[in-house]
Amino acid sequence: MLLRDIIGHRRLTTLLARAIERESLPPTLLLAGPPGVGKWAVARASAQAVNCTEPVRSPNDRLAIDACGKCRACDRIARGVHVDVIAIEPDERASIKIDVIREMLGRTSYRPFEGKRRMVLIREADTVEPAAQNSLLKSLEEPPPGTSFILTTAVPGALLPTVRSRCMRLRFGRLTSSEVAAALVRDHDQSESEARDAAPLADGSIGQALALGNNDLTALREAAMRLLQQTAGRADTPTRLQAASALYSGGKKERSREDLAVVLRLMASMLRDLEAINAGADRAVLANPVIAGDLESLARAFTGDRARDAFGAVDRALTALERNAGTKVVAEWLAVQV
Ligand SMILES: [Zn+2]
Repeated sequence: MLLRDIIGHRRLTTLLARAIERESLPPTLLLAGPPGVGKWAVARASAQAVNCTEPVRSPNDRLAIDACGKCRACDRIARGVHVDVIAIEPDERASIKIDVIREMLGRTSYRPFEGKRRMVLIREADTVEPAAQNSLLKSLEEPPPGTSFILTTAVPGALLPTVRSRCMRLRFGRLTSSEVAAALVRDHDQSESEARDAAPLADGSIGQALALGNNDLTALREAAMRLLQQTAGRADTPTRLQAASALYSGGKKERSREDLAVVLRLMASMLRDLEAINAGADRAVLANPVIAGDLESLARAFTGDRARDAFGAVDRALTALERNAGTKVVAEWLAVQV
């Protein structure tokens, strides 16, 4: 993937392209931000823009330079066989061992062989064993001639402080829902409607949207809708608690925290839809068009500030869940609140 194909993160890719064009890319970069938003793709695209032999100047009105995507260097980088672009990823035990780091350091003691700069990319750098992180320090502080490092991580706090302090950090944010949807359609063979369904639940992460694929979204959506319908009728507490049980247990087994989080995000997006309906918005702007009929019949119960208040309660429930509150406690609290 080229810099111009990266979805979202426009400010960062603009900045990186400018630095590459001026040959002033910082020797040690740390791309930090939520998982699944494209940090690794940006690291690889940057390495390619640096080493492309036929770089394109100003491929659009935003980027100063980008790789051509066609030359021999681009082809070799894309296939992962360019000798000067070293990409290190965690092994199947989610760890990067000291031997791998040592072998890489051995290779960096020579000048770049076929490229302009040797680019060392380390994915999920927080998984580098502490001893191996220590062995990296000297190279990060003073990279060997012609070598740059780009590390990515979702948990910068898990890196040794000595490693962190030697890197210039670029902060990646979450993607918007429509950016996630665009990536799902373009890069992951999802249909427009599948993508539109999953994107609002993915918390701005393509990775999370793909993980949702294993979930039965319809069942989770039904659980969210059922609770809203119960509370719309101002049901009494026992009825609400019963509706809550559908949130934390899906039939025989308890739902995982991740599943409950998806149900809560679904509720939040339905409440936003209810507010939009009450404001007279068009069906086309709804985040949940597949259940537009159900939403329209619910809307009357959520007039005034009610949808917004309920939205606030869902948001607090999500925060509690992230802070490790139990799923049953969170679901029951919410059922009584909305
Ligand atoms: Zn090229």
